[in-house]
Amino acid sequence: MKGSVSRRGSRGLIVAGAGIPGLTLALALKQANGEAIDITVCDPGLSAGAARHRGRAYAVAAGPRRMFGQLGLWERIAPAAEAILDMAITDSRLADPVRPTFLTFAQGDEAADGEPFAHMVEAEPLVETLLTASRETGITFEGTGIATAIPERDRIRATLGDGRELAASLIVAADGARSRLREAAGIGWVGWSYPQAGIVATIAHEREHEGRAYEHFLPSGPFAILPLPDRNGRHRSSIVWTERQADVAALLGGEPEDTLAEIERRFGLKLGRLTLEDGPSTHPLNFGIARAFRGDRLALLGDAAHVIHPVAGQGLNLGLAGAAALAEAVTEALRLGTDPGAPEVLRAYERARRFDTVAMAAATDGLNRLFSNDALPVRLARDLGLGLVERLPSLKRFFIGEASTSRGAQPRLLRGEAL
Ligand SMILES: Cc1cc2nc3c(=O)[nH]c(=O)nc-3n(C[C@H](O)[C@H](O)[C@H](O)COP(=O)(O)OP(=O)(O)OC[C@H]3O[C@@H](n4cnc5c(N)ncnc54)[C@H](O)[C@@H]3O)c2cc1C
Repeated sequence: MKGSVSRRGSRGLIVAGAGIPGLTLALALKQANGEAIDITVCDPGLSAGAARHRGRAYAVAAGPRRMFGQLGLWERIAPAAEAILDMAITDSRLADPVRPTFLTFAQGDEAADGEPFAHMVEAEPLVETLLTASRETGITFEGTGIATAIPERDRIRATLGDGRELAASLIVAADGARSRLREAAGIGWVGWSYPQAGIVATIAHEREHEGRAYEHFLPSGPFAILPLPDRNGRHRSSIVWTERQADVAALLGGEPEDTLAEIERRFGLKLGRLTLEDGPSTHPLNFGIARAFRGDRLALLGDAAHVIHPVAGQGLNLGLAGAAALAEAVTEALRLGTDPGAPEVLRAYERARRFDTVAMAAATDGLNRLFSNDALPVRLARDLGLGLVERLPSLKRFFIGEASTSRGAQPRLLRGEAL
């Protein structure tokens, strides 16, 4: 096959990157369009399957959860999911004896229409479900990356890492923050690195969490405790802990019991004695937005289009909202019998997502800067700010991932409707 152009022609779509947004897009499109579209997902990490996501869990907002329901996946995912029924936000110093709660969100808040505003979902079973469902619907998988993509008049030609070629009418770059396809297409990127690292771990604890999440804003960054489903009779939570990059080695480099003691200082004693189930793993934290979400027969999706601080747990949710919007734009073109890689299709996708994405990225960046700061005037200003949020449902909506669009303006899949 080396050097040959596959028969996948002008109704073909190639997804570069089998992360959660890439797989969700591929599945949504195949389910809605069947034989009318040929989909190939390429990823050099595929041979490791879902196992490379072990130990990670994400807060999945109500809209993406509705989409998983509409795609027939939620029942399969639900055993690995725990509803966040309410969330308490505190602002204090590490040594403070009490951490007063400034802001609470609860199930039934007007913004969430009575449904839990988010679920914590374990990534490995989620990806396993997506991979299995994608194979069942007839999506083709290639365990190799895309090396180059050259647009032509009525198609785009991709060369795989092993030298084979594929052609399609559209390539979706879902190849992560350092997207090779984005760079090769010359799409600019505005971004920077935070002087912070994200530490992720799974903790078992004596007492039940009762679906309550906490976010403690500490001077070095937010420390979030997020409820997970019990496993083998053990109550569990995921922590996402932001620390100054320069302090991470000292915090995590000692004996495991020293690390656990540092976690306990931040976690508090509400849930009883803690043990470490998984991790900790450390992740660099970056901010970045592509100057455009589209190129010539190319759409950027997920972290290839935007990377945000995890302070509000919204990065993947943005990627899933992008998958819903792109699936809608491509499906409309296919139903009209027009070219799914045409500029107007990609413009519709970009229009649907650009504003919300930039607004969410700016808000998460601002929130992190405002809180990762110990100066007294800033502390006062933000405490007033949080009081304000408590009173403004529209700002709460923003924090719980319904973003700035009204529900009616969201892509159909996020509203739980079929494409
Ligand atoms: C500490 C931390 C906590 C977070 N918590 C949350 C949360 O609670 N909720 C939330 O919504 N978000 C959260 N996020 C954000 C979330 O992790 C990311 O937004 C999401 O994982 C991005 O997925 P992706 O598929 O776009 O990118 P990636 O996960 O980076 O996947 C990219 C894929 O592309 C493949 N690839 C690379 N190059 C090529 C190529 N040339 N060809 C083909 N394939 C290629 C890779 O192998 C990989 O599989 C968090 C992030 C961090 C750092």
